[in-house]
Amino acid sequence: MSQADQARARRLARARRVVVKVGSSLLVDGATGRLNRSWLESLAADVATMRGRGQDVVLVSSGAIALGRRHLGLPAGRLRLEESQAAAAVGQIRLAHAWKEVLEAHGVAVAQVLLTFGDTEQRRRYLNARSTLNTLLALGAVPVINENDTVATAEIRYGDNDRLAARVAQMLAADCTVLLSDVPGLFTADPARDPGARFLAEVGEITAEIESMAGGPGSGVGSGGMATKVEAARIAVGAGCHLCIASGKVPHPLAAIEQGGRCTWFVAHEQPVAVRKQWIAGTLKAAGGLVIDEGAATALGRGKSLLPAGVVAVQGRFDRGDAVRVTGPDGREVARGLSAYSSDDVRRILGRRSAEIEQLLGYRGRDEVIHRDDLVVLGPRRGSGA
Ligand code: GLU
Repeated sequence: MSQADQARARRLARARRVVVKVGSSLLVDGATGRLNRSWLESLAADVATMRGRGQDVVLVSSGAIALGRRHLGLPAGRLRLEESQAAAAVGQIRLAHAWKEVLEAHGVAVAQVLLTFGDTEQRRRYLNARSTLNTLLALGAVPVINENDTVATAEIRYGDNDRLAARVAQMLAADCTVLLSDVPGLFTADPARDPGARFLAEVGEITAEIESMAGGPGSGVGSGGMATKVEAARIAVGAGCHLCIASGKVPHPLAAIEQGGRCTWFVAHEQPVAVRKQWIAGTLKAAGGLVIDEGAATALGRGKSLLPAGVVAVQGRFDRGDAVRVTGPDGREVARGLSAYSSDDVRRILGRRSAEIEQLLGYRGRDEVIHRDDLVVLGPRRGSGA
């Protein structure tokens, strides 16, 4: 393996948090409609190895519709929306069960999470989905995510798990996403038609030329759905996450990537947390503000979260999940962040201890008004030597 190949392969082994998307064609045998059990077991062993190394792993698994259609005796070919929803309902239960069995054999707890478009696209719901997934990961479980196909209608559907996986990676600040399907990666042209087609091991920038290599939307047959994969790569890379497209048509497909197996890497040039903080600091318009005391301002400068005890006043109206300005006692803006509470709720808990939140609001929310992961401290802090 060349040095460049080795360096590429290490990206997966060294990632802190990895999202792995598994395509239907790998999970389900096209001829029999049955689950490819032994292959799934080999993938589960790879996931267990990664967990054992301390890496967080999130699976985005397709296959519900492909598994369910056979059990319902639905015909081959394109299904109507209601039929695919019904097939997903029957298939998802089998899919989740299979994941549970193969991962529990390695002592790994499995959690099923079904998402709809709004869960990743609307900030409030996004925060809920994110905190559940983060909690699962902190507890050592492997979330197995799919789109909630039974309730997603055509207008509010992702329809493909490539983009869903990239959104999940963005939401969880993952540093590596792997799309496993039946294509080995990106070629400069369709290798079936053009003998001069070259394989691309690495894409540093997603240019118009790269997009045209993937084919336009709908050109699925020849390019094996490459357009949605490149779209997923754009989302992931924009969020500071490397993305790898690889064929899963081998046993132990993740170990194969780590050993330098053929795949296409889309390279991120920034860290996920840095990208997220830029987004909070610059792209989001602040909906309101929080005035904090000197002690809280010093704590924020040291990388701490903002607790209700440190808030002295609330400005304007905002919702949970909105971006807010945080100003110190001298009126200077010290930070920006996403508030875990609405302006009304912050007014009720400000100046109080986190332990009192439940009694004051009637529900037990987060201990922090703004968690440090959702906070960007602006400029140098007065008197902070370190
Ligand atoms: N959510 C679909 C399923 O489980 C798969 C979507 C996709 O293939 O990307 O059948």
